[in-house]
Amino acid sequence: MKRVLLLLPTTGYRNADFLAAAKKLGVEIVAAADYCHQLAPSWGMAPIMALHFDRPEQAADTVLREIKFNLDGVLAVDDSGIELAALLAERLHLPGNSAHAVRRVRDKLAFRRLLREHEFRCPEFRYLPSGEDPGTLLPRLKFPVVVKARRLSASRGVIRADDSGQLVQAVNRVRAIQSRADRDAQELGLIIEGFISGCEYALEAVLDQGELTALALFDKPDPLDGPYFEETLYITPSRLPAEFQSRIRHEVARVCRSAGLTDGPVHAEMRVNDLGIWLLEVAPRSIGGLCGRVLTHSLGMTLEELILRRVVGEALPNSNAAGAAGVMMVPIPRRGIYHGVEGLAEARAVPAVTEVTLTVETGQIIAPPPDGASYLGFIFARAASPAEAENALRIAHHRLHFDIRPEYAAMAAPAAYSSKR
Ligand code: ADP
Repeated sequence: MKRVLLLLPTTGYRNADFLAAAKKLGVEIVAAADYCHQLAPSWGMAPIMALHFDRPEQAADTVLREIKFNLDGVLAVDDSGIELAALLAERLHLPGNSAHAVRRVRDKLAFRRLLREHEFRCPEFRYLPSGEDPGTLLPRLKFPVVVKARRLSASRGVIRADDSGQLVQAVNRVRAIQSRADRDAQELGLIIEGFISGCEYALEAVLDQGELTALALFDKPDPLDGPYFEETLYITPSRLPAEFQSRIRHEVARVCRSAGLTDGPVHAEMRVNDLGIWLLEVAPRSIGGLCGRVLTHSLGMTLEELILRRVVGEALPNSNAAGAAGVMMVPIPRRGIYHGVEGLAEARAVPAVTEVTLTVETGQIIAPPPDGASYLGFIFARAASPAEAENALRIAHHRLHFDIRPEYAAMAAPAAYSSKR
């Protein structure tokens, strides 16, 4: 039986999907999670399996010291574990990306430097160290710009600024978000880059010894002009001309080569305008949230199964299902406490809609980007054409009504008292 070390994030959307794929393939999973090490044993997990993913060197030492059996592969469920997975694969001489390559593409500043170094299309960008006044960069900035945290995901800590006043506000806000979300925030600082206009696309692919195979190209049909960038719709196949789709695939493959990425899933996001293709991100992981389920039909298996099969060297059956599919990451309309939803049955009844799954829990505090990094849930559709899939998702979304209440209702009380007096 093949044995894989699986790096499970505490709040992973896809932990269960990877475990289900392992069960189906008869792969033994050695589970490691970034749970607090005191909590893990009380949850029935061995202490060795409690690792700090954001301290990859230290976590890799722990695994290598404690593990007493051979592994056939190491796999991270999501972005948080990819650096540790690469480091472990390197040290155990298993196939995988080099830790250096993963570290570089995961850091938005290092990624921009890589693009510039290899002469890819890249906006002007500046590094803003912690504590430094953004005003010092003003003579060298051309608005609009985008202020970004260095290694957060799901558009968390990404804000557009159109003038110097907005820039100061955005920098303060992104600094606060990054320091809550990343314990290395102080050393990391921020990146400020030129705003790229245009339409956005995403490529899902896998690398095998440096060879890139595309699984799907998605259109992201909603305009993403900021100031915050909540991602909603992903529709495949793309409606871009075939020649342009092939240019996108080549560009992503070229970046992977330049970065030294060689193995495993790749998720790339890009903008396209009159000047060409602008890569926003090339990440050595698969698509986030539950979005990968949109590909189950066309792949003939779950994306998690496909990834796991590659890790353990199992053959991939061919599948070329026709038709279009789409997913909506249900946007969070406002910050607050989630109390419930109406219209679920009506949304599920929309023709072409195949699944509506809510991932939010009653009582959970939720916030849209740039503060939050979660979604209310996911709507999936399958149809004859991309336009029909997109339309079905929009109709289903309109049928959902979320009850989100303010977090601090009690704060209103003093005002009410004073008005009575
Ligand atoms: P994350 O990894 O958090 O998704 P990204 O850098 O990919 O961070 O940015 C998130 C979103 O913000 C992108 O999908 C895009 O819509 C928008 N964005 C980021 N950088 C730029 C830019 N330079 N110009 C225009 N939009 C941008």
